[in-house]
This record gives sequence, structure tokens and C-alpha cells, in this order.
Amino acid sequence: MNKIKRVLVANRGEIAVRVMRTCRDLGIETVAVFSHPDRSSLHVRFATKAYCIGAALASESYLNIAKIIDVAKKSACDAIHPGYGFLSENAEFSQAVKDAGLIFIGPTPKSIDAMASKTKARQVMINAGVPVVPGLKQSVANDEEALKAAQEIGFPLMLKASSGGGGKGMRKVDKMQDFLSALRMAKSEAKNSFGNDDIYIEKYLNKPRHIEMQILADNYGHVTAFVERECSVQRRHQKVIEESPSAFVDEAMRANMAEVAKKAALAVDYQGAGTIEFLVDDQKNFYFMEMNTRLQVEHPITEMVTGLDLVEQQILIAQGEHLDKTDYTKHFKGWAMEARVCAEDPKRDFLPTPGPVNYLRTPAGPYIRTDTGVYAGCTITADYDPMIAKVIAWGPNRDTARRRLDRALMEFTLKGCTTNTMFLRQLLSYKPFVDGVYDTSLIEQYLKKSPVWYKDEHKIVALIGAAIFNFEKEKRLLSQIKVSSTKEKDNSISLWRRLKNG
Ligand code: ADP
Repeated sequence: MNKIKRVLVANRGEIAVRVMRTCRDLGIETVAVFSHPDRSSLHVRFATKAYCIGAALASESYLNIAKIIDVAKKSACDAIHPGYGFLSENAEFSQAVKDAGLIFIGPTPKSIDAMASKTKARQVMINAGVPVVPGLKQSVANDEEALKAAQEIGFPLMLKASSGGGGKGMRKVDKMQDFLSALRMAKSEAKNSFGNDDIYIEKYLNKPRHIEMQILADNYGHVTAFVERECSVQRRHQKVIEESPSAFVDEAMRANMAEVAKKAALAVDYQGAGTIEFLVDDQKNFYFMEMNTRLQVEHPITEMVTGLDLVEQQILIAQGEHLDKTDYTKHFKGWAMEARVCAEDPKRDFLPTPGPVNYLRTPAGPYIRTDTGVYAGCTITADYDPMIAKVIAWGPNRDTARRRLDRALMEFTLKGCTTNTMFLRQLLSYKPFVDGVYDTSLIEQYLKKSPVWYKDEHKIVALIGAAIFNFEKEKRLLSQIKVSSTKEKDNSISLWRRLKNG
């Protein structure tokens, strides 16, 4: 078994820094790659060595397989960690890494390929006996076929891009009249985002929960499933706050989900860290949605409740080590929650707010973890994802974790551009979230129902301050006036009015 000595991290931002931290812990050297606008990024400073690989456009840099492999070879790396996003779920990349004689810290090209398209993944899962969201097995060939399928599946339904991800090419359709125009829009979005306009149709599950299972699989057929992650706090189908475990899942359901997740992983001979995502209805029926063949953004909550370092586990598996046989659906402690801090303005429909970071104070204190790729003095560029940090809190129970996360977000101070921290805090104290009784419609409901929320908190504080000041001033003025009779009182009040008006 060859120990990995030097890893190229083919990514940027918080995840590149996070991977490099574990490498440091393990005594492994790191090599960063970066694009022109990222030259002063934190991941560049964290690495033992760093190489510029091109322009801001991802296809020129973070998606450029040839350049990345070239850097890995010339810097004498023995492995590549892809992080999440960019090339992390690209079978061609995983193959190219292998062909270059390097270790890919992730699954085999075959497993990635089996899960790369949502329709292909559904077919594999159906064959393996894993329940999938009701709908088509294949993408629709033409409008006629699509209309027929829509009638059979019924409304509301969900149009999905077969090669989809990040919510792109996905559209809920409520009625037949809207179907063809929605199909056209989904197709064009899919074409623009993935270079492929294949669309398939799923039944739209009303107000479901998104619950997922982290798995680890070694190279010897052993799969470990972990206690679930609840990811139903979503905006536009993208996760905003995650927690582990889920308040909705009981032991029997957890055991069932774990078995199905293991079955799914074994069906594609999986190796490494992966996640099986399920949609869950209010009757606790769960359906396979997709498998992410990489580390997830929200992996730290699993780390917080299990005490494991998942990046370390990925490295150990890639080195060919055996997994320990602990059952992490039973061996976990307490509760963890994560909030995604983004450079975006909730007041302006969550518009990204790139800009300079003039001041940054990240939260600390008991049981708080902050993973970030920004620092005071850096600039958040408009070229990449607006997520700039993840704040994670642990507590012995759900409410303590929730309160700690709220406290941590209160401490998070960034000056230079707007972030969504106030919005996140408002969600944390929104009653359905506090009670743990929520589904994927939580944010939509919240935005509809809460007229004042975070919007103008600083103005409210200023107004209260001004009111107190005025009150104190008037109290002082009144105390200067001695009152003994009603007439005198009337006179005094007019005197007071004169004094007050200067
Ligand atoms: P992507 O890969 O683009 O992120 P997913 O298939 O993972 O898309 O779905 C993202 C989210 O969209 C889910 O977590 C869920 O909230 C919602 N969603 C997806 N499919 C359905 C469905 N069939 N019914 C209801 N909601 C769905």
C-alpha cells in the first residue's frame, strides 16, 4: 500500500482550503491550481505550491483537464482531490488522472459514469430494486411523447434535465396549458448549462423532504452508511441550511434508508465517499433521487456528529486501506447544523454581491466550525459561486445546535459586501424550523408570511434608539417643571412645549 505524499487539489474556495487542512493534518503536501482572478485566494496561500492555470472562465482553468494533469505531473503529485463541483463528477477526468499514473481521490470512472445522467442512474436503481421517484426512465424524444407521458404521470410534475445539477433545467409544471412552454424553457436551460437538452419527467411530490445518506465504500466491497442529513431548507431547489440527524427520521426508517443506500452504492461498485439523495413524502416513503459521486458541501455536519474526518477517509480509501466496520447510523452523538453564508442580498432577490472584504470576523467559541475561502483583504469575484463560508454548530441536542448556530451567525461580520447571515438567522428562528416540522417549501412559506423579517433591522434599531433618546430628553424637561394646580399644570405644559420646541 503506497501512502499518498503530495495531493493536487483541483478546486478553489472553501473546499480547496478544507481539503488542504486535512492533508496538513496527515503530513501530506498540497499543490493548488488557480485562475487569474484567484491569484490571491486563500487556497493559493494554503498550498505548499501553487500554479496559475488560466483565465477566470472555468473551461479555461478549473475545468481544464489537460492543464490540471500537466501541473500534477510537473509538481510530482501522486494524487488529485477534486473537491465538489467543477471536475469532481467527471468520469473523463477520473480516467485521465488514472491514465497519467496518478490516484484519483474519488470513485472509478465507471461508477461516476453510471450516476452521471439522472435517467441512467434511475435505470440502474430500478434494476437494483431501489425505489425511485415515479416517472420516466428515459428522456422524452419529442413533444408528442412528452405530452403523452405528462398525461400519464399527472400534474403537478417536474421536468428535469437528464444531465442536470444545481437546479438547472428543472421546472415544476402545474397544468397542461403550461407544459410545452415549460418544456421548451427547460430544454434551452439544459442546453446552455450542460450542452445537452435531454429532459425527462418525474411526478412532483408535494412538499417532500430532501433527506440524504452519506456513504463510504472501500475497494473491497464494504460500504458504510451514516446517520442521515436533512437538507429540506432550500431556495430554488438549492440547499441553504442542513442538519444531522433529521427530526423526521426514526430508527426504523434510518435503518431502512441505510440499507437502500448501501444497495445503491453496491449496484455501481462504488469506491470512496458518496451521497444517496432521497425525496421523502409525509408518510415516510422515500425515493431515490440521485447519487452524488463526490464529497458534499454539507459533509461537515456528518463529521460533527461522528467525529470522523471524511476527507481523511477518502484519502485512506484511495490509498487502498480497509474501512473500519463501525455502524455510523447508530454511533453518532448529538446534533449538527450548517448554514451556507453567501455573498448575496436577500433584499434584492438574492442577487450576488461580489466585492472587497474589508473586514472579516469569523465565529468561534464552543462547538463552532467555520469553513471559508475568504479573508480580510481579499476580493469576492463575480466569476464563481457566491457561497463564501459554511458555519457549522454542534450541540448535544437539536435546540442547542440551533441556538449555537444562531449565535455564530450573529458573530459573523463581513464588511465590504452584503451577505445573507441575517436571513439565515431569521430562518433559524422561524417556528416551523424551530419545531423541526418542515419540508422543502419552508423558505417559500417564510418569504410569503414574514413581512418585516431581516429587511431593515438596522433602521429599526436606529428608530428605537431615537425614540429612547427623545423620551429621556422630554422626561428631563418635564422634571424641571414644578406642578401644583390644574391651571398651573396647563401653563406648565405650554411652557414645556415652548422649551421642547427650543
Ligand atoms: P439538482 O441535481 O439539479 O440539484 P435534484 O434532482 O437534486 O436537482 O433536486 C433538487 C431539489 O429539487 C430536491 O432536493 C427537491 O427539493 C426538489 N425536487 C427534485 N425532484 C422533485 C420532485 N420530483 N418532486 C418535488 N421536488 C423535487
